[in-house]
Amino acid sequence: MSATRILVLSDLHANATAFEAVLSAAEGRWDICVCLGDVVGYGPDPNQVTARVRALGATTIRGNHDKAISGVMDTIDFNPVARAAVEWTRAELQPEHLSWLKELQPGPFPTDGIVLIHGAYQDEDEYVFTPAQAMDGLLDSSSAVTFFGHTHHQGGFSFLDSSVELLQIRPRPSESFTALRLEPGRRYLLNPGSVGQPRDGDPRAAFAIADLEHHIVEFWRVPYDISAVQDRMRSAHLPEPLAQRLMLGR
Ligand code: ZN
Repeated sequence: MSATRILVLSDLHANATAFEAVLSAAEGRWDICVCLGDVVGYGPDPNQVTARVRALGATTIRGNHDKAISGVMDTIDFNPVARAAVEWTRAELQPEHLSWLKELQPGPFPTDGIVLIHGAYQDEDEYVFTPAQAMDGLLDSSSAVTFFGHTHHQGGFSFLDSSVELLQIRPRPSESFTALRLEPGRRYLLNPGSVGQPRDGDPRAAFAIADLEHHIVEFWRVPYDISAVQDRMRSAHLPEPLAQRLMLGR
């Protein structure tokens, strides 16, 4: 394998402005692109974002919103606000994008030396917030480096000698990125954060760039025009709490 820098995207949630900010910040810094799911749902730009992910040729697995919107699963576990967004998105999506979303593979999906999952390793719809919840991914994955999404929290976990470490690896407000050096023998379960709806307290769009040959993963945050996205959400009559939370990053 030649030197390959992998752009890792997750939870884009139909936010085209955040996605464009991410792609311009990452320009020239990556060779291939992967996506951990939730391409759509919540945001106002499902067609634009799906078309862009497809055009990038990103290796993409499905998220719970992709499944609900394309009819692969029902919305029983969705709260009323999320369900309203699912229904709006399904009506809005062009049929060819809807069928692309429906065909997405589930994780775990090994590719280019890493493994992609949306939620937990053994359950794609499960959230991983704690070291205990991270165990199956750290132990069962076929790769030392596994990427997950779903929580919209940038960061992750590492494992060595039967102990799990919580990694605090978010860039400070004054920084664009922070780099994690991968240690030999250690296993990693890493979350690039959410492009389109961050929930870790930093409203900036999140992503990661992995360079396995040089043993580095960079965790990035980039600002974008949040109020432009909120305006489109209000014009589309998407639920107001979904617009509000973008500014809070919660
Ligand atoms: Zn999500």
